[in-house]
Amino acid sequence: MSDRFAGQTAIVTGASRGIGSSVAAKLAKKGASVVVNYRSSEEMAQSVVDEIRDRGSEAVAVQADVSNEDEVAAMVETAVERYGSLDVMVNNAGMTKLGPAEEIDIEDWRRVIDVDLTGVFIGSRVAGRQMLSQADGGAIVNISSMMGEMGYHMRSPYCAAKAGVINLTRTLAVEWANDGVRVNALAPGFIKTDITDQTQSSAGYTDDDIRRRTPMARFGSAEEMANCVCFLARDDTYVTGEVLRADGGWSSDAWRYHENRA
Ligand code: NAP
Repeated sequence: MSDRFAGQTAIVTGASRGIGSSVAAKLAKKGASVVVNYRSSEEMAQSVVDEIRDRGSEAVAVQADVSNEDEVAAMVETAVERYGSLDVMVNNAGMTKLGPAEEIDIEDWRRVIDVDLTGVFIGSRVAGRQMLSQADGGAIVNISSMMGEMGYHMRSPYCAAKAGVINLTRTLAVEWANDGVRVNALAPGFIKTDITDQTQSSAGYTDDDIRRRTPMARFGSAEEMANCVCFLARDDTYVTGEVLRADGGWSSDAWRYHENRA
């Protein structure tokens, strides 16, 4: 077990399943004490915590809606009281609502912006306040999406929010660079999780449609995303304000010449 994050404390939002649960498990495996955040799926969050503890690391499940600043502040307070510092904040929680822009319910638009963009701002600034007060600063990793850099039908609020996350990341990186707080973003492509299954079935395309359009010819895994987050969170790089694309080559491929492969 690498101890890259030994003695450090990490919060991972939306860690009850999907990418977040893999990130929490990976940071714990590498020595961090981890706060496993969830909004409503308490049982799943607790089982992520139990698995981490069974492997000999430390974790606790904490409920907070990332769009509620008081709840996020209370979560950061819990982390610091329990473990002594906050060194890594992973703003991963996210959701989506699909619909044509001319029809999408304005309340659905507001909820996606609230969770996927304002939630990242709240998580970053509440964690940032704590990190700015610590001698060793800290690292913030915001989970955007390749949809933050290109348009995608039926997803106007999601694409707008994820684009916002990218430029918010750069702005916070610049504001805090000289105070020891690094801020970076990860832009995943298609990763097999609940959110992908949900959007695929409503948008009517299959796993094979995605594989054929992806240069690496497969989905990414939550564990691969966790490896990328760990790279951005580690404290021995000169990297801040960066967007790491982890999309199997999707955003580099202008022609999509693989599309007709079997
Ligand atoms: P997922 O499997 O649907 O999991 C979403 C997680 O976010 C759950 O733990 C959920 O917990 C939590 N969550 C949702 N709303 C929340 C809120 N208001 N407050 C706190 N937690 C909340 O999603 P995923 O695929 O792992 O996605 C994780 C992140 O990666 C998201 O930001 C997503 O946009 C991004 N991403 C995913 C993909 C992909 O292909 N999967 C691609 C690009 C980017 P509850 O169930 O308790 O609400």
